[in-house]
Amino acid sequence: MSNGIEDWFERQQTANQNRLDKCQNKRAFTSEAEARAHAASDRVQFGDRFTPYRCDICGDWHLTRSGS
Ligand SMILES: [Zn+2]
Repeated sequence: MSNGIEDWFERQQTANQNRLDKCQNKRAFTSEAEARAHAASDRVQFGDRFTPYRCDICGDWHLTRSGS
């Protein structure tokens, strides 16, 4: 038997770590309303449009930069 399953496992670990990094490096908001309020002030401050989304890792809300 090859070590295919180990390769698969390693890929899963890496994918999970990337997901966690993506989540934990972001500010988290407990509600969509709170996230939207921060998105509005970020838009004024940075001039970019931010869209709130519900995180499927931590269950809180994050902002993602959207469009231009
Ligand atoms: Zn998250």
